[in-house]
Amino acid sequence: MELYKEQQLKIYNSLSKKKEEFTPIVEGNVGMYVCGPTVYSNVHLGNVRTFMSFDLVFRYLKHLGFKVRYVRNITDAGHLENDADEGEDRIAKKARLEQIEPMEVVQRYTVDFHTTLQKFNNIPPSIEPTATGHIVEQIEIIKEIIDKGMAYEINGSVYFDVIKYNETEHYGILSGRNIEDSIHNTRALDGQSEKKNPQDFALWKKADKHHIMRWPSPWSDGFPGWHLECSAMSTKYLGKQFDIHGGGMDLKFPHHECEIAQSKTTNGVHPVNYWMHANMLTLNGQKMAKSTGNNILPEEIFSGDNTILSKPFTAGVVRFFMLQANYRSILDFSSVALEASEKGHSKLMEAISFLPGIAVSKESSFDVKAWKQKCYNAMNDDFNSPILIAQLFDAVKQVNLLKDNKATITAADLALFTTTINAFVFDVLGLPNESENNHSDKLEGVVTLLIKLRKEARDNKDWALSDQIRNELVELGIQLKDGKEGTSFTVS
Ligand SMILES: [Zn+2]
Repeated sequence: MELYKEQQLKIYNSLSKKKEEFTPIVEGNVGMYVCGPTVYSNVHLGNVRTFMSFDLVFRYLKHLGFKVRYVRNITDAGHLENDADEGEDRIAKKARLEQIEPMEVVQRYTVDFHTTLQKFNNIPPSIEPTATGHIVEQIEIIKEIIDKGMAYEINGSVYFDVIKYNETEHYGILSGRNIEDSIHNTRALDGQSEKKNPQDFALWKKADKHHIMRWPSPWSDGFPGWHLECSAMSTKYLGKQFDIHGGGMDLKFPHHECEIAQSKTTNGVHPVNYWMHANMLTLNGQKMAKSTGNNILPEEIFSGDNTILSKPFTAGVVRFFMLQANYRSILDFSSVALEASEKGHSKLMEAISFLPGIAVSKESSFDVKAWKQKCYNAMNDDFNSPILIAQLFDAVKQVNLLKDNKATITAADLALFTTTINAFVFDVLGLPNESENNHSDKLEGVVTLLIKLRKEARDNKDWALSDQIRNELVELGIQLKDGKEGTSFTVS
């Protein structure tokens, strides 16, 4: 029997603001859409957390035996610099600054996005469609919204009429905003904008003569509005109504509100049954921003080449750290917090390595089945990974008692205990099994040995040998740093 029949999952639905029992539209199948990245710069650590949150959701649904179709888009056109449909296309701007083709920007940062998520052991989605690959579908939706009287054309651009939509529907249903409030709070249009109301949003923008990324349409040579691609691609791959739609908290308004308005107008139904929003990551208590320098790239965490952390950390430790918080809470990234997670992570991995050597007895001194159900209870409660990790630390305690012969376990219970720990640690939490393929501790030992030999060479004034050790390490991508407290190293 599939696990989902005996484990009732509950999901916090941002639409109802309640935890609800999860029942998919088609039994045994789940359709999930998550808003993907705009590929114009290196993936932000905050985005890594968002995608890891939905990786946890994807993994647990699969673990429960659901057949999941996970669609996550790549925004490679149409995302302007601000939400008011003004400014340059983010990708075109980067292409102009770097004097390369927009599609070179897209290629470079799509590859960066994939390799980074892979390092954090995220499973790729089932379908990863792009905005530029779905221009035809987007034009069809615009035609339909115009036919239904909810959009208007001005000077070759098409805008969604939010005020008119709100006469019969609730624009703000997800974010809890009221259009009436925003009418009073929004500055009057400055005369530059051609929209009827400031709340209206672009479905199609006419390209000015400098805009490189453009496609023909019935209204003008131009490009689609950013919100439209998600309605087009979710409908195409998951249907008019699907189970789960996820994204970062910052996308609730206006992006998801606009998606709902577009899909509701086109298909006549609310598109999503369960809306999920992942919370943000702060750095040392403050919002991460490239402009203020309060920012760190994943590569800088792994190499230790940064001014924020005391030492390098592996992707596995960072993943463990992120999953120690609930996806709906704000999480603060700091050196102290990572050091604590690193200790916890190694205790857990050490306990797992002891499991094969545990001796069995005729009786078990603890209830493995009850403990296993507590692990499921944690995940069934809206993917509560910190509670699951607390249960895993209870298991660590038991492993250590067993190892010291202060507890007993039967052969059958040990088998159940081992498979459950492995399933939750490696399949559900998705922690990389670093003991299998990562020899970082051995590397550290070898480099420390070479540092010692180099110091001996220097003490003996054998400069040729000491330089040779340093230079050959540099060629291997290992940099030595001499400081007051001795020599340290970073791996790039
Ligand atoms: Zn989206």
